[in-house]
Amino acid sequence: MLIDSHCHLDDERLAADEEFVLQRAGAAGVEYLVTIGTDEKTSAAAAKIASRHPGRIFHTVGAHPSDVDRFGEAELSEIERLAHETGPKAIGEVGLDYYHDSNREKQAVVFERMINLARQLSLPLVIHDRDAHEDIYRILSEKARGLKIMMHCYSAGPSFVDRFMELGCLFSIAGPVTFKNGQDHRDAVVKIPLDRLVVETDSPYLTPHPHRGERNEPAYVKLTAEKVAEVKGLGLEELAERTTQNARKFFAI
Ligand SMILES: [Zn+2]
Repeated sequence: MLIDSHCHLDDERLAADEEFVLQRAGAAGVEYLVTIGTDEKTSAAAAKIASRHPGRIFHTVGAHPSDVDRFGEAELSEIERLAHETGPKAIGEVGLDYYHDSNREKQAVVFERMINLARQLSLPLVIHDRDAHEDIYRILSEKARGLKIMMHCYSAGPSFVDRFMELGCLFSIAGPVTFKNGQDHRDAVVKIPLDRLVVETDSPYLTPHPHRGERNEPAYVKLTAEKVAEVKGLGLEELAERTTQNARKFFAI
């Protein structure tokens, strides 16, 4: 039994095909899915999808750092309303993205506002960190103490594991751990204790080997789980059981 702890089922590449995507996920042993909001529209769509599949699909409400240039008060208030009214299992994805070119100061302001929202609602945080590890760590350690935190598609390598461990974070491992050039991801997995690991697809993005280049979908979380199990020297079944336990506890599902 597996959980895909991070997917974007509202994305048209998956939504157009929802029934078959969910069938294939079921056939691959993916019992639960967490579909992630990134703005006011995708968060509302995620809530709708979850409401159609109670007990199987859960959702989050978030404000993605790459979208901040578009976020005014109306959009942020709507995200907050959705967080209060649709029963999300976490606030996210939220964080910082220094790879894409959006306003860094505003990213930090929106990120901190979302951390406050999580605190208000006693919800965990799902963090997007792209090329912003130092600032993510600093803001989390200043503002998010005591909150549950998941580093989505953990990409900061083995050297940051200790710092994020100290914040109590879970580390969510995605497709890049299967890539030829994914050694840094595998080295991080070696270092992360089993009780802090979860797996995700981030579908439709980040498709694991051997499907790299195609659309990703939740069934492929099994390929990532197999690689993580191999790196950890465990059987797939044990790895699946432990990561599922960790994710269920985190999201309270
Ligand atoms: Zn995502």
